[in-house]
Amino acid sequence: MNIQLNNKVCLVTGGDRGIGRSIVQSLAASGGVVAFFYRTHEDFAGELEKEVAATGGRARAFQADVTDEAAVGEAVRTIHDEMGPIEILINNAGVNRDRSFAKMTTEEWDDVIAVNLRGTFLVTKAVLPNLIEAGWGRIVNISSIVGQRGNFGQANYAASKAGLLGMTKALAVELAGKGVTVNAVAPGFIETDMTAGIPEEVTQKIAATIPARRFGKPEEVAPAVVFLASEQASYITGHVFSVNGGLYL
Ligand code: NDP
Repeated sequence: MNIQLNNKVCLVTGGDRGIGRSIVQSLAASGGVVAFFYRTHEDFAGELEKEVAATGGRARAFQADVTDEAAVGEAVRTIHDEMGPIEILINNAGVNRDRSFAKMTTEEWDDVIAVNLRGTFLVTKAVLPNLIEAGWGRIVNISSIVGQRGNFGQANYAASKAGLLGMTKALAVELAGKGVTVNAVAPGFIETDMTAGIPEEVTQKIAATIPARRFGKPEEVAPAVVFLASEQASYITGHVFSVNGGLYL
């Protein structure tokens, strides 16, 4: 299938590294005009802009913390004015603060919910009027296998990612008649900075439980996102697309 995004303006949150970076590269390679948010890593963001330009694509970085409503609103307005109305939104920015529930602090709970769930709400709120006005739009929320089946030491993260699945389905129903689809991608264990801190012996134990016998790579997640963002996925909404090597079926 040849996916062609025909210069549609895309926004990817947390686009400077990890899974988001691969999504930015893949959307640009498919003909999307990509804006992406980063929070702190201006260096990674700048490199990515150059990397995409070198391959003939278009990607521009914007500094915006997804928990800051005013910053999100301003960045979305700037993208609108300088690149055009956003038609494809990929809510990818996410954090984890892992600890067993008994030891988890309120701050650790709040931080994760603030970025993963409230951040997705804020960015979606800011972008949605454009999609509704255009009568066409794609929203893809990056959830997690942990939101589907839970995981030890990740009650905050699991709650945020399961919350995203609920939000995806509710919004899918609200927007289905307006030409806007809303789907989620639920990756399993993927090799990024988020999983780099897992001790090697634990990584090996986890990998042994995965039917594919290994962690996935960001570039194995991005194609699912690009497909859901495409015209070809027009009748798919409220779906959770697992990309997990068979770990949760
Ligand atoms: P990384 O830690 O590699 O990257 C996280 C990204 O989120 C960075 O771009 C970071 O920006 C951005 N970010 C974090 N907080 C904010 C914020 N407040 N505002 C704006 N941007 C922010 O993570 P991954 O690439 O691994 O994860 C990407 C998504 O995929 C997340 O939602 C994660 O939960 C999900 N996921 C990851 C899995 C994995 O195994 N890696 C598995 C399942 C889901 P900056 O660099 O500027 O800090």
